[in-house]
Amino acid sequence: NRRIVLAERPQGMPTPETFRLEEGPVPTPGPDQVLLRTVWLSLDPYMRGRMSAAKSYAQPVEIGDVMVGGTVCEVVQSNAEGFGPGDLVLAQTGWQEYAVAGLKAVQKLDPGAFPPSLALGTLGMPGLTAYVGLLDIGEPRNGETVVVSAAAGAVGSVVGQIARIKGCRAVGIAGGKDKCDYVTGTLGFDACVDYKAPDFMQRLKEACPGGIDVYFDNVGGDVADACMALLNNFARVPVCGRIANYNDTELPPGPNRVPQLMGLVLTRRLKVQGFIVSDRWHRMADFHHDMGGWLRDGRIKYREDVVEGLEKAPEAFIGLLQGRNFGKLLVRVGPD
Ligand code: NDP
Repeated sequence: NRRIVLAERPQGMPTPETFRLEEGPVPTPGPDQVLLRTVWLSLDPYMRGRMSAAKSYAQPVEIGDVMVGGTVCEVVQSNAEGFGPGDLVLAQTGWQEYAVAGLKAVQKLDPGAFPPSLALGTLGMPGLTAYVGLLDIGEPRNGETVVVSAAAGAVGSVVGQIARIKGCRAVGIAGGKDKCDYVTGTLGFDACVDYKAPDFMQRLKEACPGGIDVYFDNVGGDVADACMALLNNFARVPVCGRIANYNDTELPPGPNRVPQLMGLVLTRRLKVQGFIVSDRWHRMADFHHDMGGWLRDGRIKYREDVVEGLEKAPEAFIGLLQGRNFGKLLVRVGPD
């Protein structure tokens, strides 16, 4: 049983030395447990937070422990009623080939309904994040302009497509021409702006002639800064992620701009609200119903970036923090 553990806490960007590949025996399931073989491992930006010991909304991974992560697994052996060998389940078994899990920690998947990997992306945690962040916090109204950063990624791609379904103008922000072309050409956003281009601010303004009503913030940093300046009165800002800042080791230099930002919040009557998707699992049934329909009707499109083999997970994860993934990042750990 190969597994990848946290070898040391990274300072700044993780490196290959942050992780260690280990081998151990395949575990034996106890009463009411199943033995699982990992098929798909999801790599997600939140894992950077779990590598740090700083206080957060979730417990950190301890040094030497298996890295956490959502997985789609096949049941190999079952001591649990209702589960048999060959069943596919959604689990949280992390970066390893085999694991045992109790009944409450797994959820059976219907292999005929959708490709199983979607349970880790558009039909899973990232999709639900987009759905609750946009609809419950962003409250988009017909004709409004919704801007989302990391628009080619797992969450952002869904945000813009739901915005379009709700009758909004969807504007993406992404790194590079290929991703921007995909966001407008395949996903059907009205515009997409490359934040790495020298004239980013000008192009963003042009893409949002009526200002911004909802800015769905996936990245923080300079991109968020640029969007804040264009917010309309009564705009909403679901604060979803800060990936541009996850590897920061200190505050950026420069003047203290908190008063300016809070002044903007006041005078433009902004709603700026952070959220964590795990507080919102109760929306899963509505989400599944809507998203299942949109996928079946072809109204939501998705793209997966698949890496082959567990040993590739560290490099792929480091790439995610640098924008090298193109679509939902997944590791195929074993045959489906
Ligand atoms: P993505 O699939 O979008 O991958 C991450 C992308 O972030 C990269 O591809 C890259 O795209 C972009 N990025 C990386 N570094 C920077 C940077 N310095 N500045 C701007 N963009 C950058 O990931 P997800 O869709 O899974 O996650 C998106 C965000 O949502 C993350 O911040 C994540 O932490 C957050 N999230 C929050 C949840 C919550 O409960 N609040 C739940 C799930 C996700 P590009 O090439 O375009 O730069």
